[in-house]
Order: sequence, then C-alpha cells, then structure tokens
Amino acid sequence: MNEWESVFEAINVEDVLSTTVQAIRSILEAVSLKVAPTTDEVLRYESLLKEVKRHQQLTIESGRIRWRLDSNVKNSDYVLLLESEDLLLHGDVGRIKRCPGDGCHIIFYDGSKNQSKKWCAMAHCGMLTKSKKFYDTHRRVSK
Ligand SMILES: [Zn+2]
Repeated sequence: MNEWESVFEAINVEDVLSTTVQAIRSILEAVSLKVAPTTDEVLRYESLLKEVKRHQQLTIESGRIRWRLDSNVKNSDYVLLLESEDLLLHGDVGRIKRCPGDGCHIIFYDGSKNQSKKWCAMAHCGMLTKSKKFYDTHRRVSK
C-alpha cells in the first residue's frame, strides 16, 4: 500500500461522501489545482482535526513516544483526518494531482520518481485521451 493511499481511496469514491471525507477532499482538491482552499474549507477542516485530536493520547511504543487514537475510538474518518494531516504537513504537496481525464475527478498522489504521473490510471484516462487525440489528428489529416 502506498503512503496515504487510504486517504485517496476515500476521497475518490463516487458514492455520497461523509462530511469529514468531503472536508478532506475539498482541501486536497484545492491543493491539486494549486489554489488556496477557501476560508470556510480551512475552518471546517481545522474544526474536524481539533475534534480528532481530543481523542489522541501519547503512548510509548518500542521506546518511542507517539500519538495514537484512544483505543475505544472506532471512527475510520478520524484515521483519514490524521492521515490527510500527515500528508499535508509531511508529504510533497506538489505531488497531489487531479487527473485531467474527461469527466474524471480523481485526485491522487504522484509517487513516481520524476513526478511525471499525469493520469489516475494510464490504462483508463491516459489511453482514452491519447486515442482521442490520435483520432482527432488522423481525422484532420485525412480531410
Ligand atoms: Zn482519470
């Protein structure tokens, strides 16, 4: 599993997103488009993060101090919030991209060596766009 993969899996589902996942998606979408999120989006995300942090406790694991969610908290959105915060604070936000495929709204983390990943999936959006471009070019030439 790639780093932060669960965050991107959650924000890219087409079903109805929970309020928390919507908040995460709006922040990551703004980052992917290289624009600042709105003040409302930031405040909503901040208040959700503050709520999660009330459920964190310091633990010592293998001699290292770490933050962990209370063991009685069973909220996967909380985990997603903390993972998205980790991504935004410690990830390379320039690698957060939105697929330019027609009608595709997928946001992903480009973990490639040279940051050249353009499509959510080459086998889907990449090939569709390339074949459409090829078809358009070919049609123009044959006229
Ligand atoms: Zn795509």
